[in-house]
Amino acid sequence: MSTLLTDLLKRPSGESLVPDLRPLQLTPKIDPITQSVLAEDAVLRQLVDGLGSPLNIVLPEALDTNVEAFRAVYRQHRLRGRVYFAHKANRSVALVRHLAADAEAGIDVASLAELQAALSAGFAPERIVATGPKNREFLWLAALSGIIVNADSLDELSELAAVIAARRLPRARIMVRFSEFASHGVQLVSRRSRFGVPFAQLAEALDRVDKHANQLDLVGVSYHLDTIGLPEKAVALEGCLAALDACRRRGGTAWSLDIGGGFGVNYLADGREWERYTSELAQAVLGRRAPMTWNGHGYGLRNEAGTLRGSLGLYPAYRPISGPGYLDQLLRAAAPGQRRPLGTLLLDSMYDLDIEPGRALLDQCGLVLARVLEVRGGEDGGANPDHGDQRETLVRLDLNARDISLEEHGVLMDPVVISAAPPGPIEAYLLGNLCLESDLITRRKVVLSRRPRPGDLLAFVNTAGYFMDFSATRALHQPIARKVALFQGGDGWSWCLDEHYWPVHERAEAA
Ligand SMILES: *Cc1c(COP(=O)(O)O)cnc(C)c1O
Repeated sequence: MSTLLTDLLKRPSGESLVPDLRPLQLTPKIDPITQSVLAEDAVLRQLVDGLGSPLNIVLPEALDTNVEAFRAVYRQHRLRGRVYFAHKANRSVALVRHLAADAEAGIDVASLAELQAALSAGFAPERIVATGPKNREFLWLAALSGIIVNADSLDELSELAAVIAARRLPRARIMVRFSEFASHGVQLVSRRSRFGVPFAQLAEALDRVDKHANQLDLVGVSYHLDTIGLPEKAVALEGCLAALDACRRRGGTAWSLDIGGGFGVNYLADGREWERYTSELAQAVLGRRAPMTWNGHGYGLRNEAGTLRGSLGLYPAYRPISGPGYLDQLLRAAAPGQRRPLGTLLLDSMYDLDIEPGRALLDQCGLVLARVLEVRGGEDGGANPDHGDQRETLVRLDLNARDISLEEHGVLMDPVVISAAPPGPIEAYLLGNLCLESDLITRRKVVLSRRPRPGDLLAFVNTAGYFMDFSATRALHQPIARKVALFQGGDGWSWCLDEHYWPVHERAEAA
């Protein structure tokens, strides 16, 4: 996304006169916890045999490491505040229950059903924040249960106040989400957003809260920007600091600054593979090398009379600074106006810092398994660039592109082959199980460590955040994947259906 076209063309691999025929691998980053699950190939086969393909696996215990890594950043910066898990990144109840057992963790719910899920998993109301636009039922249950309501608009403030007044509910703790921040002097303005109150309406928002003082208790302000751009977030954070100062000057007691999510994940093991892939893609789009994608798809790049145009519409899958590291970098960044580190400004003002990571908290927390149905073509060797399309290897899987929405989210990485077949990398296109030309698991030709056989499994690792169930549908009556939680029993991995997971199991056995 941030890669410049000139960068794509300048990279060294594009300049070589000798064609580079090595397979264009994008090796996923596999942490030890994921590796130890992949090592249990007999168990994984049994699970898919018993529960069907595709199968989603979640690893609740991997959450602990991620929560702790965020807390370590808080400690380094001597900041206080809550880590709210953005529930929408995965529908698993096991993950939510596991997090509920951590008394300090919170949860961010964006629908009535997510709020019900959080309450029934055991989250106390003070650990729940409701975000996004809300309907009346959602507002009512939020007010009744006493969670924090992060208001998405001025009208929502009024509607919540009306619901509370009409039913004589207790005063609600609220935050206001802002968007469209402008910075002092610099012309950088955050993009237009359908969410939040435009920051220019700060005074109006505070007036609205004052007007409903009997129903609404403002405890903080927030933003969530759907970007990984640090400068934009620095502007927003400084804006929210100013908003809290404004509340104080008006006699308010708001003390929390919630900076939303968007800390990102590093999906790839090797930055050089990513660089090489993207520069070769530019070459392919310009017709200077064999296509690397189905029907020459350019992922946003195009060839206009020999010139590269467009922009790369892919998630920057190799991101060495992501998740907690990204939070640290943001806190170390200078506020664009005051020129002091944002973390220092937060500390000096004694405001709490709240965050709502979704994707980043789910790093290495799950994988999707799919059975191989058919392997076609490509028998006579691998990387010959003169190959016609017929001789490409096609691997048809018992899952579809909605079951593992990597392509939809622009994340490119190779699946892991679980097979007894002899090793030796091959390039292949992955086809889904829908009768639809467009049902490719990814339009990128992937690299597999070996040629799989029908009945083997492919594992799409690190897919708990958004990929495994956000878009899944029952098109063609294909089943939606069952979900299984794997946890450390007394002796290696144990498993249960997602809905049967309660975090008492594993602790009891380990003790
Ligand atoms: C989606 C969302 C998040 C989580 O975003 P990630 O990119 O997954 O970290 C946090 N807060 C709000 C309000 C959201 O809508």
